[in-house]
Amino acid sequence: MSRPLEAVIRLDNLRHNYHVGRALAGGKALAVVKANAYGHGAVQCAAALPDADGFAVACIEEAIELRDAGVTQPILLLEGVFEASELELAERHKLWLVVHHEGQLAMIEAASPKTPYTIWLKMDSGMHRAGFAPSEYRAAHRRLAASGKVESITMMSHFARADEPASQATSEQIAVFQDTVEGLPGDISLANSAGLIAWPAARAGWGRAGIMLYGASPMPADSPAIDLKPVMQLKSKVFAVRELAEGEPIGYGASFHTPRPTRVGVVACGYADGYPRLASTGSPVAIDGVRTRIIGRVSMDMLTIDLTDLPEAGVGSGVELWGDTVSVNEVAAHAGTIAYELLCNVKRAAFSYR
Ligand SMILES: *Cc1c(COP(=O)(O)O)cnc(C)c1O
Repeated sequence: MSRPLEAVIRLDNLRHNYHVGRALAGGKALAVVKANAYGHGAVQCAAALPDADGFAVACIEEAIELRDAGVTQPILLLEGVFEASELELAERHKLWLVVHHEGQLAMIEAASPKTPYTIWLKMDSGMHRAGFAPSEYRAAHRRLAASGKVESITMMSHFARADEPASQATSEQIAVFQDTVEGLPGDISLANSAGLIAWPAARAGWGRAGIMLYGASPMPADSPAIDLKPVMQLKSKVFAVRELAEGEPIGYGASFHTPRPTRVGVVACGYADGYPRLASTGSPVAIDGVRTRIIGRVSMDMLTIDLTDLPEAGVGSGVELWGDTVSVNEVAAHAGTIAYELLCNVKRAAFSYR
């Protein structure tokens, strides 16, 4: 058998999740497909959402890839342009532009577009990464509106802690945003996935649904359930089986010793495929819908799982690394990271779209 690692992308689930996000947003949402649609394939995912109101990407290269593939909906560059030379290209491809700092504002003022730009003016309402400070925001808005280069200005901001239900930070960001935009004309956009799911006050205007599109909730595991369906199923196979006596070490560093006579399945997936090395002994995997666990360290191209209680399983058995039985969030928790990072990192798998 050739190397059996496979990422199966269920586009029906993607559509379902988009519609959940858009409904939460109250009717209007961008599908965030940056980073190759969080590792799922941006072109395929965008093509599977013909009724999406628009898409958001991180940079012009990602946007042009979508345009070249025939995507006609609006596409927003979430970080705007990095240099003035991109503006002409952005205009030609009818891209919407975030403006989040003085340099970009000056580029717009100095530009001579044939068709005025659609701008999303970003406020730093508390995250302190990108955006105009509230004290500078209205002046930036005025300059854009007066520039004659702009067709519309959507007022946006981004949350730092919307995935923390107990934090006051999100309510504070919403209040800062609302105070600052008071009376300014134009649409607004506040909510990422966590904002849409957990913060009703953030749901007005455009939603920006990212991780939820792919079926992973950004909220803590004990949060109220939400109707999302996993899009990626990362699968491989057992390609060898070992029988070990009690007390034997497995793998690099002998980090695990068999507590009993143990049947070990060797699976074609490792950290070079994007499976996190930090998710070692104890991380869940599933065979035919039955959960078992990794034992020992994850290697570059393989990992080892406990088959002792799965006598039916053997060479050729299919193993779900994450998907329907094992959520990517669970694996991320075992690795001390977040589903976003695991999904973006999948490499060397054969992708198929259903
Ligand atoms: C990535 C991103 C999103 C989507 O965030 P999720 O947490 O994946 O929903 C929304 N807005 C901005 C500005 C982003 O950069």
